Amino acid sequence: MNKLIYLDNAATTKTAPEVVQAMLPWFTENYGNPSSIYSLGTESKKAVSEAKDIIAGSLGAASNEIYFTAGGSEADNWALKAAAEAYASKGKHIITSKIEHHAILHTCEYLEKKGCEITYVNVDENGIVKLDELEKAIRPDTILISIMFANNEIGTVQPIKEIGEIASRHNVLFHTDAVQAYGQLSINVDECHIDMLSASGHKLNGPKGIGFLYIRKGIKIRSFIHGGQQERGRRAGTENVPGIVGMGAAAKRAFSILEEKRAKETELRDYLIEQIEKEIPYCRLNGDRNRRLPNNVNFSFRFVEGESLLIMLDMKGICASSGSACTSGSLDPSHVLLAIGLPHEIAHGSLRLTLNEENTKEEMDTTVAAIKEIVTKLRNMSPLYEDFVKKQK
Ligand SMILES: *Cc1c(COP(=O)(O)O)cnc(C)c1O
Repeated sequence: MNKLIYLDNAATTKTAPEVVQAMLPWFTENYGNPSSIYSLGTESKKAVSEAKDIIAGSLGAASNEIYFTAGGSEADNWALKAAAEAYASKGKHIITSKIEHHAILHTCEYLEKKGCEITYVNVDENGIVKLDELEKAIRPDTILISIMFANNEIGTVQPIKEIGEIASRHNVLFHTDAVQAYGQLSINVDECHIDMLSASGHKLNGPKGIGFLYIRKGIKIRSFIHGGQQERGRRAGTENVPGIVGMGAAAKRAFSILEEKRAKETELRDYLIEQIEKEIPYCRLNGDRNRRLPNNVNFSFRFVEGESLLIMLDMKGICASSGSACTSGSLDPSHVLLAIGLPHEIAHGSLRLTLNEENTKEEMDTTVAAIKEIVTKLRNMSPLYEDFVKKQK
């Protein structure tokens, strides 16, 4: 068996060794409860507040604007549900996009059942939110705009600053799911007029089950979990100290290597795109060629079934994804690929490859050769492809 080639960093990342090292003592000798008075407890409290300082610093925020959660999904749920409740007297209208993560879309569906009205704004063929449509959707009773920073499937990075300016001009709260962007791109919450921001540890070489919600000071928001006074009374429950320390260490690591990581990944990404386009006919790059995450590659291959491609890549030790992890395993094509206008049959033949800075050019070559071989094999078994070739002659 060849060495594993892991190209699914948008699904999750390897916890960095220095992050694991930073976490270990908080499982073993430093097990105190941050709410306790004695020094074993106050040590933990200090560790939590240091992690908050690191994260706040990375966003240009204040430490008391960072609230730890059990991951990105919880942060997204909290932002939407609590804002809907806290601002119910202003209105019940929320604006989002058609290409959000399910943590946003399914929360919106839940809120619709609870009486909210949701506008799902369209995106263009590259996945960029239509700003004129967004602005026109704003009504006097609009309480929140929630648009993701960067898409987890096609990697498109949204014009977040422009969206923040629109929200701020109309006095509407702005939330962004930055789970894919945080740790990959530099973000300043003031410059982008962001009122709330979600992030998750395991997408930036931190641990799973930890994330945070940034909530701008002064924003009314309801407690998500009722209980003790942790997280300023807004999210009760004894803090996940090892996870929080890991999240802080992961943020510190990500922002210290940000530029170098971005340059390395961008170069590999563009090489991979170029090689696939050169080697494999009838393919289409999904997502914006320039405004995309440094580590994201997403292609559709005509006359190919994405799931078969994934299984055959796995047999060669290559980990990739089709659509998002949540939609894999279901027969519906990805809502993101449909939203950018792909017909069902083309959306079905899509492949997402997401890199990290440890990947090599050699791995890219191995991967392209494997995709080429598998796509050729699958096409040779496809009656649609056979018809297509006949017609070409
Ligand atoms: C992974 C992901 C989430 C969910 O984060 P978890 O920590 O896994 O709950 C939310 N939004 C986006 C864009 C993601 O990529």
